Amino acid sequence: MTDTIAAISTGQVLSGIGVLRLSGPEAIAVVERVFTPAHGAPMSARPDRLLVYGTLRSAAGDVLDVCLCTVSRAPHSYTGEDTAELQCHGSPTVLREGLEALFAAGARQARAGEFTKRAFLNGCLDLTQAEAVIDLIHAETAEQARNAAGQLGGAVTRKTDAVYDQLAAISAHFHAVVDYPDEDIPDFRLAAYEADLAAAEASLKALLDSFSRGRVLTGGVPTAIVGRPNAGKSSLLNALLGYERAIVTDIPGTTRDVLTERISLGGVVAELSDTAGRRDTEDPIERIGVDRAQRAAEGADVVLIVIDAAEPLDASDEALLKGADDRCVVCLNKRDAGQAVTREAVCALTSVRVLETSALTGQGIPQLVSELEKRVSAQQESAGQMTALRHIELAHRAADHLRQAVEAVEGGLPLDTAAIDMRAALSDLSEITGENATEEVIDRVFRDFCVGK
Ligand code: GDP
Repeated sequence: MTDTIAAISTGQVLSGIGVLRLSGPEAIAVVERVFTPAHGAPMSARPDRLLVYGTLRSAAGDVLDVCLCTVSRAPHSYTGEDTAELQCHGSPTVLREGLEALFAAGARQARAGEFTKRAFLNGCLDLTQAEAVIDLIHAETAEQARNAAGQLGGAVTRKTDAVYDQLAAISAHFHAVVDYPDEDIPDFRLAAYEADLAAAEASLKALLDSFSRGRVLTGGVPTAIVGRPNAGKSSLLNALLGYERAIVTDIPGTTRDVLTERISLGGVVAELSDTAGRRDTEDPIERIGVDRAQRAAEGADVVLIVIDAAEPLDASDEALLKGADDRCVVCLNKRDAGQAVTREAVCALTSVRVLETSALTGQGIPQLVSELEKRVSAQQESAGQMTALRHIELAHRAADHLRQAVEAVEGGLPLDTAAIDMRAALSDLSEITGENATEEVIDRVFRDFCVGK
């Protein structure tokens, strides 16, 4: 990296302070051209990480701001290069003019994620940590932030490294035996290695299990609202969201597709899908909606079954209630409109929790919210779970290769067959941390970043 980059690192809205950031071999020289300390030596003679008070000048030489400046020299900085930061007053105009001054002094505009990309290329962060930086910036809940901070601290890397080391040790011995058959290598005890391979496979499986918990943190807990047409599913979704989102009418079958909304419950994001009514339908569009609804309910971690209390139970209600599993909660809705269905009638068909609600009057909605909160929060897990799809795909690939290696050993195939599979598994694992990642993979990771990070 021969050039010096600059960007506004804070949001461009009026705020108390705003930060301009520079990185590259000329970072300190460039900042010195625009910033003059109020007292004493220029920035190039200052120690690292010391805040210096002074004036910032525009490209035309006018005083723009009275602010603070700090420098950090390579390799002890975020990017591993020389860096400088100006902490200005948070006026978008001051920041824009300040950035122009930095360009005039020799820096160029940083691309999205370029600071973090440099940190990765200089070995200050691995790829999972760089991805955690994006997750941390985009965190919607404290729980997501905590998890991303765990990843930033290297949690995913530590877990994959442990499996990698296990495999590398076995693989080294395999290769020694395969490549140097005449050497006096300690006896290759297949039984022992089968156990080691099984242990490595179990570690990888544990790592993959952490994904389903991690997914909950970033993607939200999939929560489906199901029930026959007109039971009040859309109205309940609206009541939960606190605003009109789904189209509500009294013609059965109006929710033809699946509507998805995200709400924060108990520190975890719930992804609520209001599904089309479950009933046999001839209308082809509604049919697609019903099929999607079925899939949404199948993939959901929490399912809200809505029953219309003002109408007698029909066959589809009964089927839903009888099929209810421990992911389900029943809402006996339209409680304000009648008693055609009693709590007892519902409880005779299912043992899951039944709540009496009215989307119209708000009766039972606080209880419903707290029930959902409880279920959604139960999915909460400790920090540092795998969340990026990229990690998961690679871990799955590694697990497949490892399985093939185990099968090769068990099936009595030549050892080099297993050795090839193990090498492939090792290569997949090292791609997670970016050691083995191609330019394209790296570019894809940094594409999602914002400018200035
Ligand atoms: P969906 O087809 O299950 O999504 O049902 P909707 O939410 O579209 O509601 C169907 C009709 O029932 C609309 O006219 C709503 O206003 C009405 N409705 C929904 N919930 C309640 C409720 O709790 N009480 C009463 N009285 N009417 C309701």
